[in-house]
Amino acid sequence: MKCYSCSSNRILRSRIRIADIARLFLLQLPVRCHSCYERAYAHFSTVLRLGSAKRKMRRNERIAKRFDRDSAAA
Ligand SMILES: [Zn+2]
Repeated sequence: MKCYSCSSNRILRSRIRIADIARLFLLQLPVRCHSCYERAYAHFSTVLRLGSAKRKMRRNERIAKRFDRDSAAA
């Protein structure tokens, strides 16, 4: 899957909001491009194959924390 605005393939599942409920009936789920941060919708079968933004964010936080600790020790 590619971003419609910047054609990046860094697309991740986005958090579902109240405003997304109408889209859920059309079997569409929110996705977010992590290159341009554009939010869009995609069919759920496509979205389920993508990773979740939450999981990626947590991993990034863990890496950042480790980096902070290492630079504080140095
Ligand atoms: Zn994009």
